[in-house]
Amino acid sequence: MCGIVAYVGNRQVTPLLIEGLKRLEYRGYDSAGLAVVNDEGIHVGRSVGRVSVLEAMVNENGGFNGTLGIAHTRWATHGAPSEPNAHPHGGVTHEGHRIALVHNGIIENYSTLKKYLIKKGHTFESDTDTEVLSKLICELYQGDIEKAVQAALREIDGTYGIAVVCDREPHTLICARKGSPLIIGVGENSYIVASDAAAIISHTSQVITLEDHQVAKLCAGPEDKLGDGGPWAVQFKTTTVDNIPVTPEVTQLDFDLEQIELHGFNHFMQKEIYEQPEALRNCLRGRLDHRDGRVVLGGLSRYSRELIRAKRFILSAQGTAYHAGLIGEFLLEDLAKVPARCEYASEFRYRNPIIEPDSVAIAISQSGETADTLAALREARDRGALALGVVNVVGSTIARETDAGVHLHVGPEIGVASTKAFLGQVAVLTMMSLYIGKRRFLSDEVVRSYITELDQMPGHIERVLEQFDHIRACTEHCIDRDNWLFLGRGYNYPVALEGALKLKEISYIHAEGMPAAEMKHGPIALIDQGMPVVFVATQGSQYEKVISNIEEVRARGGRIIAVATEGDERITQYSEDVFYVPAVPEALQPMLTVIPLQVLAYHAAVLRGHDVDKPRNLAKSVTVE
Ligand code: GLU
Repeated sequence: MCGIVAYVGNRQVTPLLIEGLKRLEYRGYDSAGLAVVNDEGIHVGRSVGRVSVLEAMVNENGGFNGTLGIAHTRWATHGAPSEPNAHPHGGVTHEGHRIALVHNGIIENYSTLKKYLIKKGHTFESDTDTEVLSKLICELYQGDIEKAVQAALREIDGTYGIAVVCDREPHTLICARKGSPLIIGVGENSYIVASDAAAIISHTSQVITLEDHQVAKLCAGPEDKLGDGGPWAVQFKTTTVDNIPVTPEVTQLDFDLEQIELHGFNHFMQKEIYEQPEALRNCLRGRLDHRDGRVVLGGLSRYSRELIRAKRFILSAQGTAYHAGLIGEFLLEDLAKVPARCEYASEFRYRNPIIEPDSVAIAISQSGETADTLAALREARDRGALALGVVNVVGSTIARETDAGVHLHVGPEIGVASTKAFLGQVAVLTMMSLYIGKRRFLSDEVVRSYITELDQMPGHIERVLEQFDHIRACTEHCIDRDNWLFLGRGYNYPVALEGALKLKEISYIHAEGMPAAEMKHGPIALIDQGMPVVFVATQGSQYEKVISNIEEVRARGGRIIAVATEGDERITQYSEDVFYVPAVPEALQPMLTVIPLQVLAYHAAVLRGHDVDKPRNLAKSVTVE
């Protein structure tokens, strides 16, 4: 969701900002803009739509010269997606200096501040909350942009990641964060700031992750302008908003450029679907101890006693991660024999939840920045729960705020529709359940057999992916249908929910997922001749029940697409199309049954001519409530 790129250094900044914005496009946005500072002042370009529109516009104007600049992709929260509302926003100080600012997040007290600033004589050109912050900085400016930003941020309620420039200080970039990620890449003669490491990695792998309430002042310029260093000098300083100095820690990014490029695939989603066998191998690597028949999760070892004693697990997440959490609920109850409940983080956090003693909260989020999930985790932790995280992005806010956790290690996920992260989340929750189960009730033999099975899962996924073209052909048959149902039972009920979500988010086809038996309690009324109904109908304890549900749909003219276990010939009598997955224990089936549904959604979106990696209205990581 929304992106920031900013640079101060010795290179021309405009192409660099555009390249950075393009790397962030996957996060979802509706408009874009940039500001470049040079000796003549601040040059601003803004446009609605794609970064390429902004690029063309800036180039038409001859490009903006300069080595300091800020850029933004906006995902509107306050005010429609329009050119006046696009960032950067700016203002003029009492002394006539101009500032420009880009902002991710929400200024919650913007209307009070706006009234105050209007009284002080400021006028507003946009409907955004962000412009209020830019005018407030101008109002408080007394010759030092860093101090003005600090002073303004002390008045702000809400969340922000910001980058600010001022024409009076043409070699200085100020950035700050609270609740919205910001990373500073430390280059040789430059600094590049971004809300996402994807925009930094082509420049440097040395980064500083800004913490909440911190402000960084980054300067780069000829030494006579900055006053020390070599012919080109750089200076770096971090403080809190209260101007208390902070010593930042420089860390190494844990991925490379290779991982965020397409490499011959048409879309990131397709690439990431195909990466799943390898992603799962990476996720499992070093965690399955065959010799001792146990799962090794270093991140949890300090808390193993609390985990064994735990009376209840509360999983919270949103979107696809919520579906992984639902599977986690089944896994924890089934394998670890401990009560577990998965909840929408957004609901959990506001309903005054009761947290009993010995509760463990697990926050699940690919990015580790999902605003609601983070807030739910804080809520549970404040009420006494042990806080665990299941996240992909190392160093993300959730990863840093939990007591302990397990990283997915599936590599960066660029496709907005999550695929390999879902797989990693389910794999981690499976391993966690076995880790706890082994210390509670599960026999060595059972754990051992799961470990052997888990080891084979990447190979099984490869087999499922061999049906990629077959699934496309089946999808083609139903591509003109605007309503689909996805049904499953037990472990495969959350998979049905995930299948429906995948289809709607990228192909914009209306789809509903639900427990197969629930269909009779209303949704069956929707079924008409040829309506596609996808059943996850693998062999297991509820197979016969699912077959009965299939019969019910067939009797009403529905077109059955089944995900079934290899060797199941009987299912072909009931289904128009079948996608097969290898036979595995029920607890492991979701990791396989979800794959054909991801592929189906992918094909549906391509067949309907949609931009798979940039679905309308969607953002990759939802950093606002
Ligand atoms: N709240 C700001 C706006 O609506 C920032 C949105 C964003 O994070 O992109 O302009």
